[in-house]
Amino acid sequence: MTNPSTSNTLKSQIAFVIESCTAHLPKAIPIYTDINQSINIIDDKLSEVIHAYCHRTLCGGSGGGGWDHKDNGEDKNSSHVQSYLCPECKQKVVFFARKCPHCGSKVRGKNPRDGRWGISASSHFKYFEELKEYRLQLIEPKTDDPECREFRVRYWVIDKNSVHLNNYARGQLASDKSNHINFQPLKQDFYLSGPVLKYDGILRVLDDRTKFDFSFFDMDNKTPEIVPEEFRLLESASVVASKKFGKNRGTWKRR
Ligand SMILES: [Zn+2]
Repeated sequence: MTNPSTSNTLKSQIAFVIESCTAHLPKAIPIYTDINQSINIIDDKLSEVIHAYCHRTLCGGSGGGGWDHKDNGEDKNSSHVQSYLCPECKQKVVFFARKCPHCGSKVRGKNPRDGRWGISASSHFKYFEELKEYRLQLIEPKTDDPECREFRVRYWVIDKNSVHLNNYARGQLASDKSNHINFQPLKQDFYLSGPVLKYDGILRVLDDRTKFDFSFFDMDNKTPEIVPEEFRLLESASVVASKKFGKNRGTWKRR
C-alpha cells in the first residue's frame, strides 16, 4: 500500500525539482528562439535528476553498464517539442518561432512529433542481469503553436523482463542493422512492452516562473497502460517479424 504522507511529500519534492530546474524557461525561450536555437523544456540530465529523486537513488551508477542511476535504472527522455521544416524554404525552424527566420514565412510546418527513446539492444543483453528497468519520460506540447507554454510530462517504467521489449531487442541485435532501438513513445512497441505510468502532469511556463501540476502520481503503480484499440490485436512475435530488420515478413495482425 502506498503511504499517503510519504507519497505526498515525494510528490511535492518532485514538483519543486521540476519547477526550480525549469525556472529559466520564461527568459530562455525567447532568447533561444530569436537565434533559431531549439531549447529543451526538460533535458536528459534533468530527467535523470527527477527520476533519481523519484526512486530515491543517485545519478551515474558505476556498474558495468554505466547505468544512469545507481540502482541500475536506465533513464530515457524524449521530447515532442520539436523543430519543423519551413514549407516555403525547407529550412529548419525551431518550435517557438513565430515566423521562419530564414525566409520570413508565417506558414508553420508540421511538428514531426517523432522524438524517440534510444535503447541499446547489445547493452540490454550484455548487462541484463545488472539492469533494473527502463525509466521513460515524454514531454509533449499541448498545441503545436509558437505561443504554447503548456507541456504534458509523463513518466513510465518498463520492466526489463517485458516479453515484447526482449523480442524487439533480440530482433534488433540479430539484424544486420544497428544495435540501436529507436523506441517510439505511444506506438505499438510501447504499449506491447507493458509501460507502467508513474506520473502525468502539466508544466506551465508562466511570465516569471514555471508551475508543475500532477494529474497522476503513484510511484507504487504496477498496472501497465491499457493497450489502445488499434494495437490490441497485435502479437509481439509478428510485430517484431514485420520490422524492417526482420527476414521473415509475417502478418502482423491477428484476426
Ligand atoms: Zn522559410
